[in-house]
Amino acid sequence: MNTARPVHWPMNQFPIVDDCLQVGGISLRQLAARVGQTPFYAYDRRLIDERVAWLRRVLPPTLKLHYAIKANPMPALVQHLAWQVDGLDVASLGEMQVALDAGMNPAHISFAGPGKRPSELAAAIAAGITIHLESARELETIARIGVEQGQQPRIAVRVNPDFELKTSGMKMGGGSKPFGIDAEQVPALLRRIGELSLDFQGFHLFTGSQNLRAETLIEAHNRIFELALRLADDAPGRMWLLNIGGGFGIPYFPGDQPLNVQPIAANLQRWLPLIADRLPEAEVVLELGRYLVGEAGIYVAEVVDRKVSRGQTFLITNGGLHQHLAASGNFGQVIRKNYPVVVGNRVMGTEREVVTVVGPLCTPLDVLADRMDLAKTEIGDLIVVFQSGAYGLTASPTAFLSHPLCPEVLV
Ligand SMILES: *Cc1c(COP(=O)(O)O)cnc(C)c1O
Repeated sequence: MNTARPVHWPMNQFPIVDDCLQVGGISLRQLAARVGQTPFYAYDRRLIDERVAWLRRVLPPTLKLHYAIKANPMPALVQHLAWQVDGLDVASLGEMQVALDAGMNPAHISFAGPGKRPSELAAAIAAGITIHLESARELETIARIGVEQGQQPRIAVRVNPDFELKTSGMKMGGGSKPFGIDAEQVPALLRRIGELSLDFQGFHLFTGSQNLRAETLIEAHNRIFELALRLADDAPGRMWLLNIGGGFGIPYFPGDQPLNVQPIAANLQRWLPLIADRLPEAEVVLELGRYLVGEAGIYVAEVVDRKVSRGQTFLITNGGLHQHLAASGNFGQVIRKNYPVVVGNRVMGTEREVVTVVGPLCTPLDVLADRMDLAKTEIGDLIVVFQSGAYGLTASPTAFLSHPLCPEVLV
């Protein structure tokens, strides 16, 4: 039996100069001074650009790459990415405004998500973006609003597949789900779409988030393409769009290893000519959130106190779960595991110690690192949580305990 303790995948995307992390080409100390307060989030443009450029080199050239805004909706970041990707995927009216503000062509914006309000649907139809249908009732609402506005709404059908993947981190499809329309109900819905005055685009299938295993994503893509080709036989018009979802994962926890994208790309390369043959107008879209931005971001909090309680050393910081719920282990984790964490202004340090890093909230849930080996800190040192560019600030309960808001910078 292998008894070695699993360790974090090395976080070497940010250079280290004089034992201090460099973000966006400047030292973390200087960046903190520039931001003017702690805690804060910082996202590194270069890392985002490199990730997109690398994906473009590896993925088939005809595959379209979209960014799913909910991973990180910071307007400056979305604007930065908008010029590098082929489209943006939004999940609310607020995200739709960010996407339109970023200058993205509405024809390349799609709006998915259950429970869209009539006002949101009306705005999306007026903007001319593609609405991904999540229910039969939503279809009727969209058609009615289209008639009222004298517009032909652009729609795609989000399909809840008739298969489920075993190993995906967060399941979004298969079995009973609030997302999409069950595959077996899709043919009847397509007939109804044909009766209404709608601009039918195609299908959207999303099987799950935070996947680190290439084999699982390859199997998902195979089954998505097979299902989409079957459903396309009942399409009420030409197929313009086949969105195969996102879900590429990044390594967070000890033992996690980066996703091997090459075999996924090779499998897509094998499928695209077959799709082009059967559905010649259809664009195949990969919509990635976390994978584009997650590794480019850090969360930075300052050590404000230190104490020893019955032999365990606690570092108390001014940041915590109200700003980084995921790192505290309370965003979908079953067993809490540590994100990769370092002392950003003394990465190796001269001495090391095992500490538990907590936030200022009066709850035992407010933990940023549990018994980790870190450089020995002083008050004022900067604790850095890596892998924080996605599902960070906007996935956190920022009003909990009424602490000040947290700035975000793109550097
Ligand atoms: C959240 C979401 C994504 C992005 O998922 P990632 O795991 O961050 O890539 C893509 N598509 C839909 C429909 C989503 O809801």
